[in-house]
Amino acid sequence: MPDAFDRVLGQPQVRTFLRRVVKSGRVGQSYLFAGPVGSNKTQAAYALAQCIICPNHGCGKCEACRKVMHHSHPDVKFYSPEGANGYLIAQIREIISDVSLAPIQATHKVYIIDEADKLGVQGANAFLKTLEEPPKDVVFILLGRTSDSVLPTIVSRCQVVPFRHIPTDEAAGIVSQNSGADALHARLAIQACGGSITHAIEFCRDPGRFTFRDSVIQMLRNLEHSDDLDILITARKLVQDAQAPLDLFREQQNKELEQSKAYLAREQIKQMELRNKRALSKRTTEELHQITSIVRSWLRDLMVLQAQSPDLVINRDAMQDLSEIAAHVPAEGVLAAIGEPDKVDKAIAYNVSPETCIDALLFEIRKDLYGSNNARNA
Ligand SMILES: [Zn+2]
Repeated sequence: MPDAFDRVLGQPQVRTFLRRVVKSGRVGQSYLFAGPVGSNKTQAAYALAQCIICPNHGCGKCEACRKVMHHSHPDVKFYSPEGANGYLIAQIREIISDVSLAPIQATHKVYIIDEADKLGVQGANAFLKTLEEPPKDVVFILLGRTSDSVLPTIVSRCQVVPFRHIPTDEAAGIVSQNSGADALHARLAIQACGGSITHAIEFCRDPGRFTFRDSVIQMLRNLEHSDDLDILITARKLVQDAQAPLDLFREQQNKELEQSKAYLAREQIKQMELRNKRALSKRTTEELHQITSIVRSWLRDLMVLQAQSPDLVINRDAMQDLSEIAAHVPAEGVLAAIGEPDKVDKAIAYNVSPETCIDALLFEIRKDLYGSNNARNA
C-alpha cells in the first residue's frame, strides 16, 4: 500500500525503520536524521510528520496530510539557521517558547530543525532542557550531516537515524524516474540543485528551469567577449530568472494564509506571516545558489577537460564550447575561478544584494580566466 514514506527515495532502510516505528505506535520524541546533502532527510522528516499529524497515520488523502506535504500545516514547524554562521539565539528562544503552546489543528506538534550542526554551543545549551523533556505532544526531528558534526550533548538526547549517501548514478536514476527527464538532464538538475534529489525533481518538472540553466551556460561561454555593461545586464537578468519560481511559492503562501485566517487567532497569523517570510527568504537563497552551482559545475568541467578526463564532464551538451575554452585558458586561472562561487554563496548568506554578488562573480571569473584586460572585442 502506498504511504508517506514512498517519497523517501533512495533510503530503503530508513523507510523500513520509520514504517515500523509508525506501525508500532511508538514514535519517539526526538530524532536526529544524520546524512549528507542529497540523502532525502527533509523529505523523510515531512513524511514522519505526516504520519504523526494525520488522524489516520499518514493516509496521504486528508486535509492534514495535504497541508503537511505542502509544508503549510500550522503544527509542523521547520527551522533553519538564520545567522550567517548558524542559528541565532533568538530563534532558539522562539522554538522553546513555541513548544509550550498547544497544537492548533492536530493532536501533536512536530519541529523539524534543519542543520542541527549549526545550533552552536550556546544555542544547544539553551535548547537541551526542552529537548530532554519536551511536552508529551511534541516531536523533534533534527537534521544533521553526521552524528559527529552535531554536538554530543544533543546527539545523546536523540534517537539517531543514519541516512546513506546516494551515489550519483542512482540519484540521477531516481530523478529520471520521478520526473521523466533523461539521464543527462537529471544530472544537470542535480548539479544545479547542489545535490538535492527532491529539488532536482522539481527542477526537471518545470521546463523554465532548463531555459534558465542554458542562459547561465551561455553567459559563461560569452564571458570572454563580454564588456562590463554586458555583465551588469546579464547578472540582473540571471538573478531575475533564478527567482522566477518564487512567484508561485509566494502565491501558495498567500493562499494558505488567507485560508488559515478563518481559524487562527491574530497572534498565530502574525507568527505564520513571519514564518512565511523566513521560508521565502530561504527559498530565495536556494534559487540564487542554483546560479553558483551551475557556474561551479561549468568551471569544474573546464578543469576535468584540462586534466584530459572528458568522460567526467557534466555539462555534456556544452562539450564543444567547453573544450575550446579549456584549450586556451590557463589552468591556474581555472583553479582561481573555481573558488569564486563559494565566496559568493557566503556573501548571499550575509544578505549582500544578489545582483551585486552575481556581478562580482562574473567579473572575477572573467579576470581569472582571461586576465584583467576585459572587453577583448573592443
Ligand atoms: Zn491523512
